[in-house]
Amino acid sequence: MERRHFLSLMGMAALSACVSSGSKSNNGSSSAVADSFSGHIFPQLGYGYDALQPYIDAQTMELHYDKHHRGYYKKFMAAIDGSELEKTPMHQIFANISRHSESVRNNGGGYYNHMLFWENMSPDGGDPSARLLNAIVKNFGSYDEFKAEFNSAAKSHFGSGWAWLYMDSDKNLKVTSTPNQDNPLMDVNPEKGIPLLALDVWEHAYYLKYQNMRGDYVDNFWNVINWKTVSKRWEKAHKGEWEG
Ligand code: MN
Repeated sequence: MERRHFLSLMGMAALSACVSSGSKSNNGSSSAVADSFSGHIFPQLGYGYDALQPYIDAQTMELHYDKHHRGYYKKFMAAIDGSELEKTPMHQIFANISRHSESVRNNGGGYYNHMLFWENMSPDGGDPSARLLNAIVKNFGSYDEFKAEFNSAAKSHFGSGWAWLYMDSDKNLKVTSTPNQDNPLMDVNPEKGIPLLALDVWEHAYYLKYQNMRGDYVDNFWNVINWKTVSKRWEKAHKGEWEG
């Protein structure tokens, strides 16, 4: 059941990517996109609340998914109710986020970022694909240097936010962090690109288990990264078949 929902979600992402690749417009006026995009859905988790233990505990997962994430989704849907954004893919909304309300920015970011976060974790996520690993080595010098840079971004980010691996417009892999629920797709973010790997460093993501030890939470994240999903995301982004 959960597997089916997960595949369904991935199918939606693929459809969205397919549709958006046919349009270079970022202003939401593309009728092809408006006609084809089926709307914003709240995703099912691809695994159980306890699947990522001991690294992420079941209670944190349940609260995070069912309360925090669902809350962002509900507020986002309320913020766009009756507007054209109901039919606009998230990456197009983010490309013009400076024109929209704080509620759309914060809750739309919260809705989207958590979808990536759930997808890029798994109890058996494997390793980066050979091609992705090559790109990581090319861009960061080594896998360990990439890991150190990502860890530093996640551990040193002040306050609530996210750490990211993303691909910039020159197809280079980069690491950054963003405040609140911002992400690299947003036009307000100084470092822009397509997000590939997301780590939530809000206290609600780890405080029940780790309390003030954010560093331990970040270190343990590497045990649950779904490199299969991240590798597929990067392959599509690299080919221009996925814009976020
Ligand atoms: Mn969160």
